[in-house]
Amino acid sequence: MKRREFIKGASAVAATSAAGLSVTGCADSESMPNPAPEAPIGPDGKRIIPWQNWSGYRHCLPSGRSAPKDEESLATLLKNAKSTVRPVGAGHSFSELVPTEGQIISLRHFNGLQSYDSDKLTATFGAGTKLSQVGEPLNKIGQALANMPDVDEQTLAGAMSTGTHGTGEKLGALHSYLAGLRLVTPTGEIIDCSRDNNADLFDAARVSIGSLGVITQCTMQNVVATKMKRRTWLMPLEQAFEEFDQNCATNHSFEMYLAPHMSYALGIAINPTDEPLSPRGEDPDNNALLDLKMARDLTGWWPGARRRAIDFATSSYATEENVDHWYRIFPSERAVRNNEMEYHFDREHVIPTLKKVITHIEKHHHEVFYPIEVRVVNGEQDNAWLSPFYKHASASIAIHRYFKEDPLPLFQSTEPFFKAIGGRPHWGKMNTLDKADFARLYPKWNEFMKLRAELDPKGTMLNPYLRQLFS
Ligand SMILES: Cc1cc2nc3c(=O)[nH]c(=O)nc-3n(C[C@H](O)[C@H](O)[C@H](O)COP(=O)(O)OP(=O)(O)OC[C@H]3O[C@@H](n4cnc5c(N)ncnc54)[C@H](O)[C@@H]3O)c2cc1C
Repeated sequence: MKRREFIKGASAVAATSAAGLSVTGCADSESMPNPAPEAPIGPDGKRIIPWQNWSGYRHCLPSGRSAPKDEESLATLLKNAKSTVRPVGAGHSFSELVPTEGQIISLRHFNGLQSYDSDKLTATFGAGTKLSQVGEPLNKIGQALANMPDVDEQTLAGAMSTGTHGTGEKLGALHSYLAGLRLVTPTGEIIDCSRDNNADLFDAARVSIGSLGVITQCTMQNVVATKMKRRTWLMPLEQAFEEFDQNCATNHSFEMYLAPHMSYALGIAINPTDEPLSPRGEDPDNNALLDLKMARDLTGWWPGARRRAIDFATSSYATEENVDHWYRIFPSERAVRNNEMEYHFDREHVIPTLKKVITHIEKHHHEVFYPIEVRVVNGEQDNAWLSPFYKHASASIAIHRYFKEDPLPLFQSTEPFFKAIGGRPHWGKMNTLDKADFARLYPKWNEFMKLRAELDPKGTMLNPYLRQLFS
């Protein structure tokens, strides 16, 4: 019997026997919350093609789209812009960073490896290069990114601009491995910056949600390329909580997933290795998500039955180990779409908060089946002004909601747990914080505001969301 048929059977049996009732479940309505509009006809008689993000929840009708071929045309475009201009990467952010009625700029022509230094282990890429296009060329020159997020669809500039991170007690977020960047400002200046050159601008621009100008080049400080071994295993929940610190301390990279109404947590550890290649093959994670959805749909409002079904179906899960080149081990495929809220906070809060959040979801949100993701990031050396990890040893908890279900009730009811511990939201993920909240959470907020106003006196880069934050 295939695993999905198995869980379906197990769910149905568990549900009926536990409740003594027929299986009605709480299947979702399969309709998109906040769908994008049909492409309307613009004032010039042409259709306006809506822009939308990966999950489909954020969208807009931009007045224009452009993809400049070089820095000079980009500088001219910005200097002469009559409307708001928003740079866009791969559209993988969930917050309102991109939507605009003005122009959308793609950096797709700023792509690929431009130069490298084998002694310093640095490499310069066009800022529109997707992470998936960074791995092979870097590996060929013996270099590796120090860390990666859990997918590799993002562009370098998009990832830096929002403080995108992976996991690892000794590892920083991606922008902390930037050795330098090039920025085209809204007034058309082209400025290189690094720790030794325009240092303030460097610290402001590394995480700047596209509000200081357009980044065209990223120079990464890399590490020596290695093979990596990825181990995934299930742990009983209590053990997972108890061993969390030890797992973080003893692995290069460690993260944990917990699904509501499941007695086990999934651990993922990644470490360098010399062992022979044994690639992962087809990614099973997406099927596992649909299995959890099916258990939710079939067992509905009977949490005991749902737990029994999920535990029964996962009891035969065997530890998996795979060895591959670093750039194939860190990211996974995400075929099932979701919306997401993620908060970063001081490391000591992680397990107590996780316990509160999972208990809250199990009690008040039976409809949720998506796992919660728990990661750690070392921000102790992180000087980027708007980095959510700024000078902190941090942990992160990410809450997901299936893309065809309204994410707001879940996110609004769990967000207070993170606010209560001084949490700082991922810039690219959903949250309800306002300007006053950010000013309180970021010691360099006012300096950032001042620099931003100097670089962009006309507010060219401000869409409605950024205007509410920065002006
Ligand atoms: C499936 C999925 C998995 C994810 N996994 C992770 C994860 O593991 N870790 C994590 O931290 N985040 C994760 N994220 C969030 C994601 O990494 C960030 O939202 C990231 O910003 C997306 O990059 P992008 O290229 O799509 O940028 P976009 O979302 O298109 O843009 C993000 C921001 O960058 C700005 N920007 C883009 N290009 C430029 C430029 N050239 N110059 C200046 N500003 C620019 C935009 O204006 C915007 O403000 C995930 C998102 C998805 C959808």
